[in-house]
Amino acid sequence: MEKLYNLNFYPGPSRIYDKVAEYANDAFAKGILSMNHRSIAFEELYRLTQEKLFNVLNVPEGYHLAFVSSATECWEIIAQSLTIQGSHHIYNGSFGQKWFEFAKKIKPEASHHEFSVDNLLKIEELQVPLENEWICVTQNETSNGTQVHDEILTELRKVFLDQFIAVDATSSLGGIHLNMANADLWFASVQKCFGLPSGLGLLIYSDAVVEKAEHIGENNYYNSFLNIAQNAAKHQTQYTPNILDIYLLFRVVEDLPDIKETDERTVARANHLYNYFQGFSEFQPVTQNPYCFSETVLAFKGQEDFITELKKVARHHGIILGNGYGEWKKDSFRIANFPAIPDLEFDQLVKFFDQYAD
Ligand SMILES: *Cc1c(COP(=O)(O)O)cnc(C)c1O
Repeated sequence: MEKLYNLNFYPGPSRIYDKVAEYANDAFAKGILSMNHRSIAFEELYRLTQEKLFNVLNVPEGYHLAFVSSATECWEIIAQSLTIQGSHHIYNGSFGQKWFEFAKKIKPEASHHEFSVDNLLKIEELQVPLENEWICVTQNETSNGTQVHDEILTELRKVFLDQFIAVDATSSLGGIHLNMANADLWFASVQKCFGLPSGLGLLIYSDAVVEKAEHIGENNYYNSFLNIAQNAAKHQTQYTPNILDIYLLFRVVEDLPDIKETDERTVARANHLYNYFQGFSEFQPVTQNPYCFSETVLAFKGQEDFITELKKVARHHGIILGNGYGEWKKDSFRIANFPAIPDLEFDQLVKFFDQYAD
């Protein structure tokens, strides 16, 4: 196979860190690739990865990390193992909606509240059925480039004391600062803000979630949460995991600064890009409300013909723009603003757009 492109702005799988080549080589040379997942060496890798990751993300005491295969798997795990009656889903785009649909298949009492891409999630308008135990929020809606800010999650936490809160942070965890105490459970996958190859999901959960799982007692599946948590407590996994990706994650987080530092850079670059793209009349952000702008995934919409042509010409220049997604599939494009993409590559992107506009 020949080289696919020069610059990749797809929001997942996305550009991986250049250093991954060297780390993968090390993994091979050190025998990591054929490591036994019940060995002490693996437990040590697991423990250190969790320690470093939690340090970088400022995860408070009382939270745990499980390695799963994807964010999608986490949607099912919550419904399957952690829900008695149902979950309440709050979303404004395709990923949040898919999560709701997955949950409903397993727990038909699942309920939802849809809000618009131009409006903030308004806590006072939420009517959460009392018997539904989870509130499920997609923090960064990858399909339309909007986000639910940290301060809204804080408010949600304050108002809904009786519910557990689960947050899909797949395209933001590792890219922006999030107050991890705002939810009982978080999940993400590594092919977005962690700049790694796909095939590994991160499930972060509190002691309260473990207690709830014990109370429910569901343990019928290979990925039943109890099975996952019991293995995680020993720094093991309930199946043979993607050890290469875990090792790569370990090496990548070792290099990462505190998330607050990454956050500053992500936000500054996002602001710069939003300002720059304001100069184009052919497309606008999918959301008209700047407060809803995602800092890690930018989505712009315009005439379908224009967008199709733009992506095509970009591709001829070796630049991959993200396709639209779901409802916005044809008339939008997306740009990942993930930490692994160097500033220099955004300079090249801007240069391309400068020329395209002429
Ligand atoms: C990419 C993405 C997913 C799916 O991730 P997988 O690792 O492919 O399962 C789920 N939710 C959001 C918000 C995403 O961006």
